[in-house]
Amino acid sequence: MVTRLGMALAICLPSAALAVGLAYGIEWVLAAPISGAGLLSSALVPIIIGMPVIFFIEGQNLKLQNAVMTLDLMREEAEERAKRDSMTGLYNHQHFMQKIREGERREDGSLIILDIDHFKNINDTFGHAQGDEALIKVVAAVRKAVRAKDVVGRIGGEEFAVFLQDANKEEAKKVAARIRKTVEKIDFVPEEGVKAPLTVSVGVAMKNEMDNVVGAMQLADMRMYKAKESGRNRVVDSGLEAEVFDLARVN
Ligand code: GH3
Ligand code: MG
Ligand code: MG
Repeated sequence: MVTRLGMALAICLPSAALAVGLAYGIEWVLAAPISGAGLLSSALVPIIIGMPVIFFIEGQNLKLQNAVMTLDLMREEAEERAKRDSMTGLYNHQHFMQKIREGERREDGSLIILDIDHFKNINDTFGHAQGDEALIKVVAAVRKAVRAKDVVGRIGGEEFAVFLQDANKEEAKKVAARIRKTVEKIDFVPEEGVKAPLTVSVGVAMKNEMDNVVGAMQLADMRMYKAKESGRNRVVDSGLEAEVFDLARVN
């Protein structure tokens, strides 16, 4: 309001002064005397017309600025939403891959992939809504087990990945073991008096075991499947490098 008034005065007062000056100029050139009423109206007309017009234009300008700011906020929110999985709030597969490529240049870096064991049984036995509950509990456990700087993504229905940007193999193994144990401790009671076990199979790989992080992701994935084959609810952190290299050669 103050700026609008200031702006209106800044334009109208010089216009009024110019109109009065012009009136004196005309009086001098034509040698025709101008009455006091004429002078007063020369001064008032720019103010009477200019003030509301400038107020209106400035008002529209402010509305436009607000609309642009709101649109910017909405765009930022939409961009942030597009990066995340709506159910868990974790990064989706596409954005997770982008994040790990951004961290590619670092020397260290490890990947953990985990998949909930026999998850279909939970849906089949207790219904999809309870399945969703179980998923949310597992995600909370994973978040609790990882470090604040680790990047977590939902890369499939009941499959998750963690990128530990600066962790060596020993640190990654510790985090993976912590994830497995924390999930195992979840108290999941889908029906009154029925406690259903929740476990995950986990694969771990160091970035430097392969040519790049995408290769390390494949290695962690194959190790996760190895953990499934070996009985589930366990961590596999070695072996299978040759198989992933073979896979890369075929592709
Ligand atoms: P495994 O131990 O071999 O991983 O067995 P699994 O049953 O976990 O694996 P499978 O691939 O056979 O089944 C995964 C199930 O996860 C099937 C799918 O319906 C379910 N699922 C995927 N996403 C969601 C989800 O968002 N909510 C629920 N409730 N279920 C989901
Ligand atoms: Mg599964
Ligand atoms: Mg799966």
